[in-house]
Amino acid sequence: MSLEFIPTRVFYEPGALDYPLGKTLVERFKYMGITMSPTTSHNRITGIPGNTATAQYREAKRTLVIGVRRSKTFQSCKPSAHYQLPLVTSCPGMCEYCYLATTLGKKPYVRIYVNLDEILGIASNLIKERLPEMTQFEGAATSDPIPVERYTGALKQTIEFFGREPNGRFHPLGFIIAPIFRFEGWQEAYRQLMERSAEELVKRAPSGWSSEQLTLEFISHRFTSKAKATILEVFPNSSLPMVEDERKFKYGQFGYGKYIYQPEEMQEMKEFFQDQAKRYFPLAQVEYFI
Ligand code: SF4
Repeated sequence: MSLEFIPTRVFYEPGALDYPLGKTLVERFKYMGITMSPTTSHNRITGIPGNTATAQYREAKRTLVIGVRRSKTFQSCKPSAHYQLPLVTSCPGMCEYCYLATTLGKKPYVRIYVNLDEILGIASNLIKERLPEMTQFEGAATSDPIPVERYTGALKQTIEFFGREPNGRFHPLGFIIAPIFRFEGWQEAYRQLMERSAEELVKRAPSGWSSEQLTLEFISHRFTSKAKATILEVFPNSSLPMVEDERKFKYGQFGYGKYIYQPEEMQEMKEFFQDQAKRYFPLAQVEYFI
């Protein structure tokens, strides 16, 4: 089975045709025989088929929208970076626990932006505002940008941009282990994951690369009421642990609250992952456990 993301249908904002990438992509998808439709806004897509929430969700994940990002600023991105870098929104994956269930709802179609030069221009301005401090950007806060990289080249361009920016950093190479669940045998399962990750890294790292340059981030499972409602509609047989009474309620940075594990459970998980990090990645930097 091919793991390449090939959309079933593509929507495009007519304004995207004013940019070379937009023009190239529209021509490319037409040539591939994919159904193309213009749309007035990449934020409001109508015409994704499906009679049930599950079917609509699946179809949305196969839908690509080519748009122009017009907002002049970026959202904050605590604790991993100062700002989100909006290269892409959503991802063709269908993980039940996906953290995007809160923000993207039941139709998480994949959006790409063709005005990358303008987006990177905003990044430049934000870097200048924080001088002489270093400013860090996260490229995967609202998406997985890898599946559409073959179409946009956005990551390549962004990495080259940060190579020229002495005071800006793109999120460094690292592992985000998320979401972390507690279940029967969770310690052994995550230990194996860490062990395997360390082995693979040694096998694949370029010569001269040291894991001193690696960062580790650990994010325990959490859910919002909105995400729970969406997940249960889209995945009616979901067995994700989402019982509010078993969790602690906490307000988050974007104004909505979420249900996280109890403090003593969090403490146990935090200590466990700190130990695993020391064991398998002794030189790496643990950025946080939340
Ligand atoms: S963004 Fe991550 S969690 Fe969400 S569907 Fe894609 S791969 Fe899964």
